[in-house]
Amino acid sequence: MPPNLAQSSLNSLTVGVLVLDGDDHPVLANPAAREMGLIRSASDAHAIVRTLAGQTRRSGVTRVVELDIPRANSDAEPLGVHVRAVDIGGGYVAVEAADVTEAHRVARVRRDFVANVSHELKTPVGALQLLSEALQDALNGGDPDAEAVTRFADRIRHESARLSRLVTELLELSKVQGADPLPDPEPCSVDRIVAEVIDRSRTASAAKDIEIKVLGDRGLVVYGNEGQLVTAVANLVENAVAYSPEGTRVEVEVGSGDEAVSLVVRDEGIGIEARDLDRIFERFYRADRARSRQTGGTGLGLAIVKHIATNHGGRVDVTSTVGKGSTFTLRLPSRSSEQG
Ligand code: ADP
Repeated sequence: MPPNLAQSSLNSLTVGVLVLDGDDHPVLANPAAREMGLIRSASDAHAIVRTLAGQTRRSGVTRVVELDIPRANSDAEPLGVHVRAVDIGGGYVAVEAADVTEAHRVARVRRDFVANVSHELKTPVGALQLLSEALQDALNGGDPDAEAVTRFADRIRHESARLSRLVTELLELSKVQGADPLPDPEPCSVDRIVAEVIDRSRTASAAKDIEIKVLGDRGLVVYGNEGQLVTAVANLVENAVAYSPEGTRVEVEVGSGDEAVSLVVRDEGIGIEARDLDRIFERFYRADRARSRQTGGTGLGLAIVKHIATNHGGRVDVTSTVGKGSTFTLRLPSRSSEQG
């Protein structure tokens, strides 16, 4: 065996390996262990590692723990480690540590998402409960209050619609966020996508006297799933209408550049503060909660758009000026990945 084979193996591992002597001084540490911060200096192991080594040495029993270690730079995400400490005799303890930061992050995001969903569902469900009780009260007694009955029935319809939209968008989101590359991208006519979107937005735009103008190139083709692309562009146009005052104009402009087609949705609406721009694509993030409630928004629309863009090998960007309007640009590859 070449003399430095053990050392070069240790050096190449992504798992941190550390051996502590009877005084908890590190006698061996590979670069991964150093990178993880399990060893602070040549003679000093991390307090957590020392504690674990001490317990293992005293009991002689192998210890396995999984924990989050705060980073020296406290803003950064904690280091998630899966640590195993083994008593190897003579007071020495060998420690191996695998970086599970990403797995911990995914678990955390999932927990937050479930908490958010529960919270979002609780609001309309709670409202429905109260409204149905109020409706019952208004009907009870010898003389039903017809005006109150109509009002409560209207609110019940409104809250049910909100609940139904939330469930539909949650299903939509789960469909698009799981699917990494699209199974079978097909050529889709951009004209047809835009026409379908305008058709879907007609009621909402007419109600606010907003004209939707289609500009730019005709006859372009993108590759992907037509249903998903319609959903993405429709979400952008619905937002443009929802966040604009009456009588304004929304533009949908189609353009093509190097191997990409761009769909630009421009409005003359309320605009978005710079501090919110990065966050509006997050699930359930709304720049203005009260307004989003009014418009019946779920906070999921742009998260869906982002996932669809990514699934298609494209991207979505936004620029905005408060009080002037916003411009969302969806860029999609204009040729199939199989064509190279
Ligand atoms: P929502 O269902 O609340 O509209 P979205 O995910 O579609 O959720 O959008 C997230 C947030 O981004 C909205 O709540 C709103 O604050 C902001 N937003 C999205 N589109 C626009 C737009 N065209 N003009 C102004 N604000 C917008």
